[in-house]
Amino acid sequence: MAEPKTNELMEKIVSLCKRRGFIFQSSEIYGGINGFWDYGPLGAELKRNVKELWWRSMTQERGDIVGLEASIIMHPKIWEASGHTSTFSDPMVDCLLTGKRFRADQIEPLSGTILNFVGAADLASFRQLEEGQAQPERSPAWSRPDCAPLLRTIFENYYSSTDAKLGGGHLGLTGERQLQAFQNLVAKGIFQSASIQPFSVLMVPGKDQKYAYRIAREFYQKRSVADPIVIHKSSEPIENTQRYNPENGSLLTEPRQFNLMFKTYVGPVESEENVAYLRPETAQAIFAQFKNVLEVSRQKVPFGICQIGKAFRNEINPRNFTFRSREFEQMELEFFIRPDEVVEAISSRIAKGSEIGIRNSEFGNSDWGWEAWHKYWVEQRIRWYESIGLPRATLVEYWQKPEELAHYARATVDILFKFPFSKRDDRGELAGEELEGIAARSDFDLSQHQRFSGKAMGVFDEELKVAWAKLDEATKKELGRRYHDARFKYLTKSGVPAEQAAQEAKADADGLAKGQYIPHVIEPSAGVDRLILALICHAYSEDQAPDEKGKLESRAVMRFHPRVAPIKVAIFPLLKNRPELVRKAGEVRELLRPHLTVFYDEVGAIGRRYRRQDEAGTPFGVTIDFDTLGEKGPELKDTVTLRDRDSMKQERVEIGDLLPLLLEKVR
Ligand code: ATP
Repeated sequence: MAEPKTNELMEKIVSLCKRRGFIFQSSEIYGGINGFWDYGPLGAELKRNVKELWWRSMTQERGDIVGLEASIIMHPKIWEASGHTSTFSDPMVDCLLTGKRFRADQIEPLSGTILNFVGAADLASFRQLEEGQAQPERSPAWSRPDCAPLLRTIFENYYSSTDAKLGGGHLGLTGERQLQAFQNLVAKGIFQSASIQPFSVLMVPGKDQKYAYRIAREFYQKRSVADPIVIHKSSEPIENTQRYNPENGSLLTEPRQFNLMFKTYVGPVESEENVAYLRPETAQAIFAQFKNVLEVSRQKVPFGICQIGKAFRNEINPRNFTFRSREFEQMELEFFIRPDEVVEAISSRIAKGSEIGIRNSEFGNSDWGWEAWHKYWVEQRIRWYESIGLPRATLVEYWQKPEELAHYARATVDILFKFPFSKRDDRGELAGEELEGIAARSDFDLSQHQRFSGKAMGVFDEELKVAWAKLDEATKKELGRRYHDARFKYLTKSGVPAEQAAQEAKADADGLAKGQYIPHVIEPSAGVDRLILALICHAYSEDQAPDEKGKLESRAVMRFHPRVAPIKVAIFPLLKNRPELVRKAGEVRELLRPHLTVFYDEVGAIGRRYRRQDEAGTPFGVTIDFDTLGEKGPELKDTVTLRDRDSMKQERVEIGDLLPLLLEKVR
């Protein structure tokens, strides 16, 4: 069965992460804190490598992207402009039985039969009333004129609370009359303990009524009905409901919206005006600093600004190890592009997404509109994942459906990785979970900041000004109309009154002739921690390797791509009690250390030492042995054994060739 295997695999991965120091639970000595994780020595190296490679591929390796490192706490208006204050929330539900919290939209849809309960009464007080029917003096309620008819109605027709087949403890009151009688009696305080809180339980196939009654009894017990007989009102079939806890069938609370931003106060006074938020994404700082960066970087649209940094979300249900955390890191790029009308004015055409091969962005892209740029970035990002060791086959390119898109987004592609805990699709294939989203966000973000800050976020584009002057009147009119309509739509959707929106949109469209516009943006937004988890899951494997005596034993090996591997080379003197070997190994370590992350290990049998490095994912091992010292003849003097982690093949390499050879392999 797939399910236990998946869990077993994740358990092994989590355990290796802890044992080898990739990832620890935060504050573990105090029992941990849900949704927070620490990276140990190997994890920290792995993470640094990944961030370094992303940064290099975005900035150093191309000329059209610059970096930013902004503060985590920013002016709270930023989050009003971005929409986070009002809409960055998830629907939250709680299990009415256990109190466990879920994200409403992530609940597995289930089908079955619902059993509805209207309340419960304590068995002892119910029995007392029942007996009172024969001896009213023992139960004064029967002598109360307002209660006796109600009691009679109840006891007219109920089936046994001790019905063994159904597990007892329930009361079937069949008609509305009886239910009302029960509620009235509870309201009059006739039962010593009772509850009229409605509740229901979903019976999925395989569960019986006995189970549902047990869950209902537990529910009412928690509401101070010591030995409840539950009042069952009705049953009904249901399909694909998300209103019940998949773990126990209990009804959930109604969904409530919960804002995910962590709130804090700036300065000593905890008042409303000092409220600030830990940023829930790094992107907004890029928009807020757009004009400053543009001025100092001598870039022109199209160009990008990228940032790596911490983000915080008070996730309702952190889960799947580090996949959904409350503190995590993002690597985000905002790539600013010309609006399509501007591209058309300059190039007299717009390349369709389907037309473009993936060219280097610095060449021949003047006819690229948002579709081409979006396609370009999706492909660029997938290639980057491949370059760090996640093959295309482990990834899924998911194009969001129109109804899933944010209102300002023209297209969004999620790059998913097939994690072991991913759900399976209809064909039994892992469906994948989001690593990165690549969104074509129009000019929404800069426009929002322009409206909220009152500062102009547009750019001046000399090429547009020149091109516009040469356009015929009909084209000017047509492009101007399209730009006007897009601006008008944005403004009215944002709540600007129609008359004012019309004026502003006209001014914006008139700006085209002066070479002015608000850039659009393509946003590839990736999570570092999810990527680290993907790399770890993909790297983890088990195989057989010979021990010292040549006997095969199973080994866990992390097959990281050498580019991301935390340690690149391990150095082993064959024996630690031979000073010549140790000295030579020390020399090799010093030779490599300035250029590569090395790990020196002289403890234990060589096979054990290899095994330890296999678990750390070290791609290469260098052993200094007696041949190195020339003890077996001059031809092998100053050569070492270089062992490859994956093939376990060993080759003899001259110490002098070691550094260039290894650098070649890890770059
Ligand atoms: P999800 O739907 O999984 O909550 P999202 O669509 O809200 O993610 P974005 O706002 O697009 O995510 O954030 C961009 C990236 O940041 C995601 O692709 C993911 O890699 C990362 N990320 C978002 N939330 C978390 C989290 N709670 N823990 C770890 N990484 C996260």
